[in-house]
Amino acid sequence: MNIGVNDGHTIKGYGTGAVGIIKEGEHTRLVGAEVRKLLKEAGHSAINCTVDYANSVSQSLSLIMDQANRQELDWFISIHFNAGGGQGVEAYTYGGRQYQDAIDVCSNITKLGFRNRGVKDGKGLYVIRKTKAKSMLIEVCFVDTADANHYLKIGYKNIAKAIVEALIGAIKVTPVETPVKVIAPGEMYKVRKTWADATSQIGAFSDLAIAKAYANSHPGYSLFNSKGQNVYSVAATLTIGTVTASILNVRKTAVSNSAIIGKLNKGTKVKIAKKVGNMYNIYFGDNGGYVSIDYIK
Ligand SMILES: [Zn+2]
Repeated sequence: MNIGVNDGHTIKGYGTGAVGIIKEGEHTRLVGAEVRKLLKEAGHSAINCTVDYANSVSQSLSLIMDQANRQELDWFISIHFNAGGGQGVEAYTYGGRQYQDAIDVCSNITKLGFRNRGVKDGKGLYVIRKTKAKSMLIEVCFVDTADANHYLKIGYKNIAKAIVEALIGAIKVTPVETPVKVIAPGEMYKVRKTWADATSQIGAFSDLAIAKAYANSHPGYSLFNSKGQNVYSVAATLTIGTVTASILNVRKTAVSNSAIIGKLNKGTKVKIAKKVGNMYNIYFGDNGGYVSIDYIK
């Protein structure tokens, strides 16, 4: 996956963050850098969408959006800390959409000993409204209450781990190294699904490291030399399942009697994002849906 990570506010000039027992601007950067590191270690691509200085608040926001919208992202996440005397973690999505990843960010951070304030409507937030990608703003906890002391005890690394585990879930990217067939000078490593399918080519690079990094962020793609020999592959373990019931209900949430948002016929292939209790969170429509694991093979 390709994930844009914004470390909240600027640190200088306009648009700086909250200050309490801890400084928001300092800790969003610690968490954000660790999130990017963990994503990369898991084979995903993480793009830093942080702005350190701006001449105005509106400039800081539009600079962040420029960085986010420059490329196709699977997720844009903005890391913040809250202020104003409350306690707990919350996440904001457009219209308060209950994306499983957002629910999981909150519940993973709650497991570290914070209150769960839930997934809320972030339509009013510039970075949620203006991103082309699916976006989520995370308020890790409060800078000006006992939350801050608890956070210092837990540490930014555990917060980052909780966020990353929620984002990548079951989607693990496994690079498959084949003995590298080095290209001749002037040749390029071509990034395609298969050599035969030339139309699937999404890039060509002369630098192997850059080509590999690009392939890593596009699971299912491989690198080929100009003779069509496979140089490097990325296996995505995003699981595909097949519907075994004659008609299978797709539900809005991971609760088995929640609202039905669609129906799938027997034999339909579904992309499974995560297992949640007795349900699979699948790719369905814009926001995903849930089906019973008993009727997927
Ligand atoms: Zn903030």
